[in-house]
Amino acid sequence: MPELAEVEYYRRQWDCGVGAKVVAVRLHAEKRVFRGASTSELRRRVTGSRFVESRARGKQMLFRFSGGGWLGIHLGMSGTLRVEPGPFHPGKHDHLVLQQAKRALVFRDPRMFGRVKFDHGKVAPDWWSEGAPEIGSEMFNATFVSDFLRRHGRAPIKAVLLLQNGFPGVGNWMADEILWRARIAPAAWAGSLTLPQQAALRRATRFVSREAMRIIGNDFSEPPRSWLIHQRWKSGGVCPRHGRQLERGTIGGRTTAWCARCQRM
Ligand SMILES: [Zn+2]
Repeated sequence: MPELAEVEYYRRQWDCGVGAKVVAVRLHAEKRVFRGASTSELRRRVTGSRFVESRARGKQMLFRFSGGGWLGIHLGMSGTLRVEPGPFHPGKHDHLVLQQAKRALVFRDPRMFGRVKFDHGKVAPDWWSEGAPEIGSEMFNATFVSDFLRRHGRAPIKAVLLLQNGFPGVGNWMADEILWRARIAPAAWAGSLTLPQQAALRRATRFVSREAMRIIGNDFSEPPRSWLIHQRWKSGGVCPRHGRQLERGTIGGRTTAWCARCQRM
């Protein structure tokens, strides 16, 4: 499933179309990626409009068009965004294509857990404005994190890190990386974290998000060898700090890897 940095990578793919008009919209209206969205309005409002800008927050992307069109895309499990040169004929899984004069902006999703939304108005839709604060923003501060951990105090911290209304964009590998850096055991109750642990968690969340965006979000490069991600799935994977074999288990319903020496209960 795409995480923060992968979403950022895909968002940028469409940027070459910023400033250009959409001459035609082709979509598979009956597909479930459009559940709840008005595909006729999307088609009518976006055709002839200009692609103005794009944003990403966590796993959600928002594309703005002249005339007040707001297109929301969530990639789900298998969604991707890409660009095709010239006039383009959509394939079976290319559920949304915005055709411009020189290129086509394509949303493809074979498994269709992704989602396309469309809104019209002067300001960004409510679902966007009311979302959780971005990890890089001022609002993602000690008070926000502390309140969020308290509200989910009886859940393991690993599961809480995956809640998108608190840690937008964090997925399974990022959560393991963050906990390893903050030296917190993944099974620890969220409500049991001390203030220094909370601060370490917030720092590690910011660091992993920022670096993942910079490294992976740019061109899908690999994070440095010193990151846990390289050891997570390897058989005999070890702690990058001192080489002890990693523990593996299921916590909060998700496969988890951690170092029993660095991350004591
Ligand atoms: Zn270790």
